[in-house]
Amino acid sequence: MSRRLLYRDALFYMHTPPRGYHVEGPWRLERAYRGLAEAGLLPHLEERPAPPPARARRELEMVHSPSYIELIDRVASMGGDYIDPDTYVGPYTAMAGYAVAAATLDALAEVKDGGVALVLARPPGHHAGREGSAMGAPTLGFCIFNASALAALRAADMGYKVLAIDFDLHHGNGTQEILYDDPRVVHLDLHQDPATIYPGTGWPWQTGEGEAKGTKLNAVLPPFSGDDIYTYMFDAVLDLALEALGGAPDIVVVDAGFDAYRGDGLGLLELTINAYRHIAHRIRKLADRIIVVLEGGYSSGLEKAFPVFTASLMDIDAATWTEEETRSPRKVWEAAGKNLRRLEEALRAPG
Ligand SMILES: [Zn+2]
Repeated sequence: MSRRLLYRDALFYMHTPPRGYHVEGPWRLERAYRGLAEAGLLPHLEERPAPPPARARRELEMVHSPSYIELIDRVASMGGDYIDPDTYVGPYTAMAGYAVAAATLDALAEVKDGGVALVLARPPGHHAGREGSAMGAPTLGFCIFNASALAALRAADMGYKVLAIDFDLHHGNGTQEILYDDPRVVHLDLHQDPATIYPGTGWPWQTGEGEAKGTKLNAVLPPFSGDDIYTYMFDAVLDLALEALGGAPDIVVVDAGFDAYRGDGLGLLELTINAYRHIAHRIRKLADRIIVVLEGGYSSGLEKAFPVFTASLMDIDAATWTEEETRSPRKVWEAAGKNLRRLEEALRAPG
């Protein structure tokens, strides 16, 4: 295995709510980092800070409108505020968002000759679209700037064949919106049924537009899906994604959320570390270059699923914990099968 990079920066911790408590706070990174430490992973990782963030502001115009970026700057410079009922901007939020983008672009350069880079990012980004909230979603869902979409587009410009994978509990509507008409990036997103959870987007028939039709794949998991359904679905849609890509990717850009882990708190999926180990094994074999950006995960998902995923992805003999696999009821299997068939039909539909 080539390089194993971990980007962690003081700025990622400085995105803080202007007032009161918020579920998306700096302690998330403390939990995630403690998870890596307790699993014995840290000695295997090459840790580094983000490069100076200011330059990344201009790069972000590739994925966001200047007026949206200015809005974040302005609210931050005035001391911060809520920009919608879910999402806050604090005094250092704009800089933290630039730092995440800077780290992710640096990761792209660093894995050029092979390697895995993990950005322990905050604020998260996969719900952030060009103008803010994406695809008709009501809010930005805690997200500010979309670093993974930026890295995916940059990688495509470099001539790479790009596969973007999002296994966060929620649909990565911002990433999908930004990539929606770009045929160079195949985007595969697994999430809890949008009829039952924020952001209410990510339906099987949303497959991209224009030349990009058929390159965006939404795998819809019914509530109470366990490891069995999730791993089955992951394998099935990964095959479809590779077909859409026309072979193996040169690089995989991952929006990694750990909120589908059972008991993490926000959702109704029942994943254990077994599902995350499976996903990591599959992703590891896809390409020599892998970039992972942390998205969701609010409690136990960060302490358990995150280190297991990281160890498996980076081929490190650590986090060898065990949990019993979760099995889904028959009704849930049937609903999942229906969603998969809908996706297959949408991909076959003539453009
Ligand atoms: Zn999420």
